[in-house]
Amino acid sequence: MYKIQFIGVGSAFTTRDYYQSNALVIAGSGKKLLIDCGSHAQFALEELGINNSNIGKEIDGVYISHLHADHIGSMEWLALVTYFNPGFKRPKLFGIQSLMSDLWNKSLRGGLETLEGKIANLTDYFECHPVRINNSFVWENIRFTPVQTVHVVSGMQIQHSYGLIIQEIGSDYKVFLTTDTQFAPYQMRKFYEQCDLILHDCETAPFKSGVHAHYDDLNTLPEHIKAKMWLYHYQPNPPQDSVTDGFLGFLVKAQILTIEKKYDENPDHKEKSAGD
Ligand SMILES: [Zn+2]
Repeated sequence: MYKIQFIGVGSAFTTRDYYQSNALVIAGSGKKLLIDCGSHAQFALEELGINNSNIGKEIDGVYISHLHADHIGSMEWLALVTYFNPGFKRPKLFGIQSLMSDLWNKSLRGGLETLEGKIANLTDYFECHPVRINNSFVWENIRFTPVQTVHVVSGMQIQHSYGLIIQEIGSDYKVFLTTDTQFAPYQMRKFYEQCDLILHDCETAPFKSGVHAHYDDLNTLPEHIKAKMWLYHYQPNPPQDSVTDGFLGFLVKAQILTIEKKYDENPDHKEKSAGD
Protein backbone atom coordinates (compact mmCIF):
# COMPACT_ATOMS: atom_id res chain seq x y z
CA MET A 1 0.00 0.00 0.00
CA TYR A 2 1.20 3.50 -0.77
CA LYS A 3 -0.35 6.91 -1.25
CA ILE A 4 -0.20 9.66 -3.83
CA GLN A 5 -0.87 13.16 -2.58
CA PHE A 6 -1.19 16.05 -5.01
CA ILE A 7 0.48 19.05 -3.38
CA GLY A 8 -1.03 21.05 -6.25
CA VAL A 9 -3.43 20.43 -9.10
CA GLY A 10 -3.35 23.63 -11.16
CA SER A 11 -1.76 24.72 -14.40
CA ALA A 12 1.59 26.50 -14.68
CA PHE A 13 -0.14 29.89 -14.24
CA THR A 14 -2.44 29.01 -11.39
CA THR A 15 -3.16 30.51 -7.97
CA ARG A 16 -2.41 29.45 -4.40
CA ASP A 17 -5.87 27.90 -4.19
CA TYR A 18 -4.62 25.21 -6.54
CA TYR A 19 -0.81 25.42 -6.76
CA GLN A 20 1.07 23.83 -9.64
CA SER A 21 0.66 20.15 -10.38
CA ASN A 22 3.30 18.31 -8.35
CA ALA A 23 2.71 15.26 -6.17
CA LEU A 24 4.12 13.20 -3.34
CA VAL A 25 4.34 9.43 -3.44
CA ILE A 26 4.20 8.28 0.17
CA ALA A 27 5.55 4.76 0.64
CA GLY A 28 4.23 2.30 3.21
CA SER A 29 7.38 3.11 5.23
CA GLY A 30 6.28 6.76 5.37
CA LYS A 31 9.12 7.96 3.13
CA LYS A 32 8.14 10.58 0.58
CA LEU A 33 9.19 10.99 -3.05
CA LEU A 34 8.33 14.29 -4.68
CA ILE A 35 7.15 14.03 -8.28
CA ASP A 36 8.36 17.31 -9.75
CA CYS A 37 9.43 20.33 -7.73
CA GLY A 38 7.95 23.39 -9.42
CA SER A 39 8.00 27.06 -8.53
CA HIS A 40 5.13 26.67 -6.04
CA ALA A 41 6.46 23.50 -4.38
CA GLN A 42 8.11 25.25 -1.43
CA PHE A 43 4.83 26.86 -0.38
CA ALA A 44 2.60 23.94 -1.32
CA LEU A 45 4.76 21.69 0.87
CA GLU A 46 4.72 24.26 3.67
CA GLU A 47 0.91 24.01 3.80
CA LEU A 48 1.40 20.28 4.44
CA GLY A 49 3.85 20.88 7.28
CA ILE A 50 7.04 20.33 5.26
CA ASN A 51 9.33 23.36 5.53
CA ASN A 52 12.94 24.52 5.58
CA SER A 53 13.59 23.03 8.98
CA ASN A 54 12.37 19.50 8.27
CA ILE A 55 12.45 19.04 4.49
CA GLY A 56 15.66 17.01 4.56
CA LYS A 57 13.99 14.47 6.81
CA GLU A 58 10.55 14.60 5.18
CA ILE A 59 11.53 14.34 1.51
CA ASP A 60 13.65 11.32 0.57
CA GLY A 61 13.94 12.18 -3.10
CA VAL A 62 12.53 13.86 -6.17
CA TYR A 63 11.64 12.70 -9.69
CA ILE A 64 11.82 15.24 -12.51
CA SER A 65 9.54 14.79 -15.53
CA HIS A 66 10.70 17.74 -17.64
CA LEU A 67 12.27 21.17 -17.42
CA HIS A 68 9.34 23.62 -17.31
CA ALA A 69 9.45 25.87 -14.26
CA ASP A 70 6.21 24.48 -12.84
CA HIS A 71 8.12 21.19 -12.57
CA ILE A 72 11.64 22.29 -11.57
CA GLY A 73 11.32 25.88 -10.32
CA SER A 74 11.98 25.02 -6.67
CA MET A 75 14.95 22.72 -7.36
CA GLU A 76 17.49 25.43 -6.49
CA TRP A 77 15.70 25.99 -3.20
CA LEU A 78 15.61 22.24 -2.47
CA ALA A 79 19.31 21.91 -3.32
CA LEU A 80 20.47 24.80 -1.14
CA VAL A 81 18.16 24.29 1.83
CA THR A 82 19.33 20.69 2.18
CA TYR A 83 23.00 21.38 1.34
CA PHE A 84 23.43 23.95 4.09
CA ASN A 85 21.79 21.91 6.83
CA PRO A 86 24.37 19.45 8.20
CA GLY A 87 21.56 17.33 9.62
CA PHE A 88 20.19 16.57 6.14
CA LYS A 89 21.35 14.00 3.61
CA ARG A 90 21.34 14.83 -0.09
CA PRO A 91 17.89 14.13 -1.54
CA LYS A 92 17.82 11.35 -4.13
CA LEU A 93 17.22 12.59 -7.67
CA PHE A 94 15.58 10.36 -10.27
CA GLY A 95 15.04 11.17 -13.92
CA ILE A 96 15.87 10.16 -17.46
CA GLN A 97 19.65 10.39 -17.96
CA SER A 98 19.71 13.01 -20.72
CA LEU A 99 17.10 15.08 -18.90
CA MET A 100 19.26 15.08 -15.77
CA SER A 101 22.25 16.54 -17.59
CA ASP A 102 19.98 19.14 -19.23
CA LEU A 103 18.54 19.93 -15.80
CA TRP A 104 22.02 20.86 -14.65
CA ASN A 105 23.48 22.43 -17.79
CA LYS A 106 20.42 24.35 -19.00
CA SER A 107 18.65 25.21 -15.76
CA LEU A 108 20.33 24.76 -12.39
CA ARG A 109 23.98 25.42 -13.12
CA GLY A 110 23.69 29.19 -13.22
CA GLY A 111 22.52 29.36 -9.63
CA LEU A 112 24.13 26.31 -8.07
CA GLU A 113 27.58 25.97 -9.64
CA THR A 114 29.21 28.62 -7.50
CA LEU A 115 29.72 27.83 -3.85
CA GLU A 116 32.20 29.69 -1.67
CA GLY A 117 35.62 28.13 -2.38
CA LYS A 118 34.24 25.45 -4.66
CA ILE A 119 32.82 24.73 -8.12
CA ALA A 120 29.82 22.55 -7.47
CA ASN A 121 28.05 19.95 -9.56
CA LEU A 122 24.62 18.34 -9.44
CA THR A 123 26.00 15.46 -7.36
CA ASP A 124 27.07 17.88 -4.61
CA TYR A 125 23.39 18.55 -3.96
CA PHE A 126 21.62 15.37 -4.98
CA GLU A 127 22.24 11.63 -4.86
CA CYS A 128 21.70 11.17 -8.60
CA HIS A 129 19.97 8.11 -10.01
CA PRO A 130 19.85 8.61 -13.79
CA VAL A 131 17.41 6.25 -15.52
CA ARG A 132 17.95 4.97 -19.04
CA ILE A 133 15.06 5.10 -21.50
CA ASN A 134 12.99 1.89 -21.35
CA ASN A 135 14.30 1.16 -17.86
CA SER A 136 12.67 1.59 -14.47
CA PHE A 137 13.83 2.60 -11.04
CA VAL A 138 12.72 1.15 -7.74
CA TRP A 139 12.20 3.31 -4.67
CA GLU A 140 10.81 1.87 -1.43
CA ASN A 141 9.56 -1.32 -3.11
CA ILE A 142 7.68 0.67 -5.75
CA ARG A 143 8.66 0.46 -9.40
CA PHE A 144 8.55 3.64 -11.48
CA THR A 145 8.77 3.40 -15.25
CA PRO A 146 9.20 6.65 -17.17
CA VAL A 147 6.94 6.93 -20.24
CA GLN A 148 7.83 9.51 -22.84
CA THR A 149 4.98 11.87 -23.60
CA VAL A 150 4.45 14.29 -26.47
CA HIS A 151 4.28 17.56 -24.55
CA VAL A 152 6.02 20.15 -26.72
CA VAL A 153 7.38 19.67 -30.21
CA SER A 154 10.11 22.27 -30.54
CA GLY A 155 11.34 22.74 -34.10
CA MET A 156 11.71 19.18 -35.35
CA GLN A 157 12.22 17.59 -31.96
CA ILE A 158 9.96 16.32 -29.21
CA GLN A 159 11.06 17.92 -25.95
CA HIS A 160 12.06 15.45 -23.23
CA SER A 161 9.06 14.87 -21.00
CA TYR A 162 8.31 11.68 -19.12
CA GLY A 163 5.26 10.58 -17.21
CA LEU A 164 5.34 7.52 -14.98
CA ILE A 165 3.78 4.11 -14.64
CA ILE A 166 3.86 3.31 -10.93
CA GLN A 167 3.51 -0.23 -9.63
CA GLU A 168 4.22 -1.59 -6.18
CA ILE A 169 6.36 -4.71 -6.36
CA GLY A 170 4.17 -7.75 -5.74
CA SER A 171 1.01 -5.97 -6.87
CA ASP A 172 -0.49 -5.99 -10.35
CA TYR A 173 -2.15 -2.61 -9.82
CA LYS A 174 -0.71 0.03 -12.14
CA VAL A 175 -1.09 3.79 -11.97
CA PHE A 176 -0.35 5.99 -14.98
CA LEU A 177 0.63 9.55 -14.08
CA THR A 178 0.95 11.56 -17.28
CA THR A 179 2.72 14.61 -15.85
CA ASP A 180 2.47 16.86 -18.95
CA THR A 181 1.26 15.59 -22.31
CA GLN A 182 -0.75 16.59 -25.34
CA PHE A 183 -3.89 14.61 -26.13
CA ALA A 184 -2.39 11.58 -27.84
CA PRO A 185 -4.96 8.77 -27.61
CA TYR A 186 -3.31 6.60 -30.25
CA GLN A 187 0.14 6.77 -28.62
CA MET A 188 -1.30 6.37 -25.11
CA ARG A 189 -3.89 3.69 -25.78
CA LYS A 190 -1.72 0.83 -24.54
CA PHE A 191 -1.00 2.63 -21.27
CA TYR A 192 -4.64 3.70 -20.86
CA GLU A 193 -5.75 0.09 -21.27
CA GLN A 194 -3.13 -1.62 -19.11
CA CYS A 195 -3.28 0.75 -16.14
CA ASP A 196 -5.93 0.53 -13.42
CA LEU A 197 -5.86 4.20 -12.53
CA ILE A 198 -4.97 7.16 -14.76
CA LEU A 199 -3.99 10.57 -13.39
CA HIS A 200 -4.16 12.85 -16.43
CA ASP A 201 -3.23 16.49 -16.98
CA CYS A 202 -6.20 18.35 -18.35
CA GLU A 203 -6.64 21.95 -19.39
CA THR A 204 -10.06 23.46 -19.02
CA ALA A 205 -9.52 26.90 -20.58
CA PRO A 206 -11.74 27.91 -23.50
CA PHE A 207 -8.66 28.28 -25.72
CA LYS A 208 -6.49 25.22 -26.27
CA SER A 209 -2.75 25.67 -25.69
CA GLY A 210 -1.97 22.60 -27.77
CA VAL A 211 0.61 21.30 -25.28
CA HIS A 212 -1.79 19.74 -22.75
CA ALA A 213 -4.68 17.38 -23.18
CA HIS A 214 -7.84 19.47 -23.25
CA TYR A 215 -10.98 18.45 -21.39
CA ASP A 216 -13.06 18.42 -24.58
CA ASP A 217 -10.66 15.94 -26.17
CA LEU A 218 -10.32 13.70 -23.10
CA ASN A 219 -14.12 13.65 -22.96
CA THR A 220 -14.15 11.78 -26.29
CA LEU A 221 -12.26 8.80 -24.82
CA PRO A 222 -14.16 5.52 -24.29
CA GLU A 223 -16.30 5.36 -21.14
CA HIS A 224 -14.22 2.57 -19.54
CA ILE A 225 -11.08 4.73 -19.83
CA LYS A 226 -12.74 7.85 -18.42
CA ALA A 227 -14.13 5.77 -15.55
CA LYS A 228 -10.60 5.20 -14.20
CA MET A 229 -9.27 8.73 -14.84
CA TRP A 230 -8.71 11.57 -12.38
CA LEU A 231 -7.98 15.00 -13.87
CA TYR A 232 -5.46 17.59 -12.68
CA HIS A 233 -3.46 20.54 -14.11
CA TYR A 234 -6.69 22.42 -14.79
CA GLN A 235 -7.45 26.16 -14.78
CA PRO A 236 -9.16 27.78 -11.74
CA ASN A 237 -12.87 27.09 -11.32
CA PRO A 238 -13.31 24.57 -14.12
CA PRO A 239 -16.85 24.90 -15.55
CA GLN A 240 -17.03 21.28 -16.67
CA ASP A 241 -18.92 18.61 -14.70
CA SER A 242 -16.33 15.87 -14.89
CA VAL A 243 -18.24 13.30 -12.81
CA THR A 244 -21.39 13.61 -14.94
CA ASP A 245 -19.17 13.20 -18.00
CA GLY A 246 -17.90 9.88 -16.64
CA PHE A 247 -14.51 10.78 -15.17
CA LEU A 248 -13.54 10.09 -11.55
CA GLY A 249 -13.39 13.87 -11.17
CA PHE A 250 -11.03 16.79 -10.75
CA LEU A 251 -8.40 16.18 -8.08
CA VAL A 252 -8.24 18.93 -5.47
CA LYS A 253 -5.19 20.40 -3.76
CA ALA A 254 -3.74 18.12 -1.05
CA GLN A 255 -6.03 15.24 -2.04
CA ILE A 256 -4.67 11.83 -1.09
CA LEU A 257 -5.23 8.70 -3.13
CA THR A 258 -4.53 5.45 -1.30
CA ILE A 259 -3.23 2.87 -3.74
CA GLU A 260 -4.02 -0.66 -2.65
CA LYS A 261 -5.67 -3.21 -4.83
CA LYS A 262 -8.04 -0.37 -5.47
CA TYR A 263 -7.83 3.26 -4.39
CA ASP A 264 -9.95 5.28 -2.06
CA GLU A 265 -9.89 8.88 -1.03
CA ASN A 266 -8.63 10.14 2.28
CA PRO A 267 -11.74 11.20 4.20
CA ASP A 268 -9.85 14.25 5.55
CA HIS A 269 -10.02 15.83 2.12
CA LYS A 270 -13.33 14.44 0.99
CA GLU A 271 -15.30 17.52 1.81
CA LYS A 272 -13.56 19.48 -0.94
CA SER A 273 -14.82 19.15 -4.45
CA ALA A 274 -13.53 20.52 -7.72
CA GLY A 275 -14.61 24.05 -8.39
CA ASP A 276 -14.52 25.16 -4.75
ZN1 LIG B 1 5.22 21.37 -19.08
